[in-house]
Amino acid sequence: MRVLFKKRTLFFFKTYNNGMVEMTKIKKEIQEAKRIVFLGGAGVSTASGIPDFRSPQGLYHVQSKYGVPYEVMLSHSYWEKHPDLFYDFYWSTMVNLNAKPNKAHLSLADFEKKGHHIAVLTQNIDGLHTEAGSKRVYELHGSVKRYTCVDCAHHFQLEDLRPSGIPLCPECGGIIKPDVTLYEEALDEDVLLSALNEIRFADFMIVGGTSLNVYPVAGLIDYFSGGKSLIINKEPTAKDREFDYVIHEDIGKTLEELFG
Ligand code: NAD
Ligand code: ZN
Repeated sequence: MRVLFKKRTLFFFKTYNNGMVEMTKIKKEIQEAKRIVFLGGAGVSTASGIPDFRSPQGLYHVQSKYGVPYEVMLSHSYWEKHPDLFYDFYWSTMVNLNAKPNKAHLSLADFEKKGHHIAVLTQNIDGLHTEAGSKRVYELHGSVKRYTCVDCAHHFQLEDLRPSGIPLCPECGGIIKPDVTLYEEALDEDVLLSALNEIRFADFMIVGGTSLNVYPVAGLIDYFSGGKSLIINKEPTAKDREFDYVIHEDIGKTLEELFG
């Protein structure tokens, strides 16, 4: 497989007087693209009331009420050793039953409905892209909507479970685990490979609402060798220089403008 690192020109919209001209140019390039890939993260869902991890209001900047950093609680070994605390944290913080898709999810779904090939690769586990109506969704870190018994492999939906305490399998009594990738766990290989192909064959890549800190997902952008690439994030990321266009703005507002 070919990995291509590009030397790119950088546009910071906040500092450019001709920002409007650039916006029109990007919009045209997106409209004309044959295959678009969108790679998103927790910032896509903050407007739905789900906090991200690494921004100043994010979960990793809040004192953990369990005395253990949340990052540690989201590991496979913590789930194994302290299932009671893991599920207490999981049901109260990671599962947001009332969250609804926001402008960002809806803009992506509407653009696909207009007939564009747009693959949505997400690190989010909230299922909001599918709820918004996107069809070509790759949930790289799984989903809080799906569960599996670790003993008999029986599958469950979120609606099948009572969202409190340690969920036990009605078939065999084993522990039911969310189909969510915890730290120390490998990603689903089929999903990862399909997502990788969407990136490899895309001619426009949009990355948004992600600090690009979590691997292997952050490394996927290196496989893009098509046309232009754009990153939309409120804060700068360490990979901004690898993109053709950089917009430090709200993702929902920006996608609405670009796809409208
Ligand atoms: P992150 O917390 O590391 O980074 C989020 C980024 O989004 C930040 O850089 C922030 O500046 C930006 N951001 C926040 N709101 C924004 C907005 N409205 N518009 C534009 N940018 C915005 O998130 P990550 O990179 O996705 O990595 C965190 C990991 O945690 C992922 O693996 C993800 O699975 C998981 N996570 C998921 C959810 C969810 O499912 N909604 C929520 C929190 C964390
Ligand atoms: Zn079972």
